[in-house]
Amino acid sequence: MENVIFIAPPAAGKGTLSQMLSERYAYKHISTGDILREEVNSGSNLGLKIKDIMASGKLVSDEIVIELISSTLNNLGETFFILDGFPRTLKQAQALTEILAKKDIKYKVIYLDISEELAKKRILGRRVCSCGRVYNIYSKALKPLQEGICDACGQKLITRSDDNEESFKIRFHESLKNNKPLLDYYQKLNNLNIIKISDDKDAIFAKILEVIKND
Ligand code: AMP
Repeated sequence: MENVIFIAPPAAGKGTLSQMLSERYAYKHISTGDILREEVNSGSNLGLKIKDIMASGKLVSDEIVIELISSTLNNLGETFFILDGFPRTLKQAQALTEILAKKDIKYKVIYLDISEELAKKRILGRRVCSCGRVYNIYSKALKPLQEGICDACGQKLITRSDDNEESFKIRFHESLKNNKPLLDYYQKLNNLNIIKISDDKDAIFAKILEVIKND
């Protein structure tokens, strides 16, 4: 198996696919979105600084997220990891290449290629729990057993403040624009694996396993 870096527009399923990899293969799921939301919820100085940026759907500064990821990876030990939501800019990708090369860590970059139409449907149906579980009220497979309640811990599910139509549009188009140089970058490094996204979660998961078991 190999470490995984997911690159994707919003709602391509990286959260759900990461959850499947963590449960079945004990991958550590590192989501910069989750780490940043924790900061906001904790009311820390950093959290106050990034709260409005996140609510508007824009990106937090490279310096902040590179520092967060660097310290997370330094404290990881030998566990396989999935990076979900990082890198999002060329500067972040270059910093990450350096961090991983220093530690001689191997990884596969996977781009989850989703249409805007499918992504929008998914975003408006997404509900999350503070324990990290993600659901979707428009998907049979991802619906919670009891409406509005987390299957795993029983807490109330919430709609993320940035999961609205206006914010989605900004995030989707910003992400396409920001992903383009990333895809070119990893293509040049000969480490780009593109997977076309549909609603068949198991078929997509099988394709991911093919990529990360390949070597
Ligand atoms: P996500 O949960 O991955 O959709 O991220 C939610 C929000 O967190 C994004 O809209 C950004 O504001 C911020 N964020 C997450 N990851 C990054 C990153 N790598 N660089 C900059 N901002 C990020």
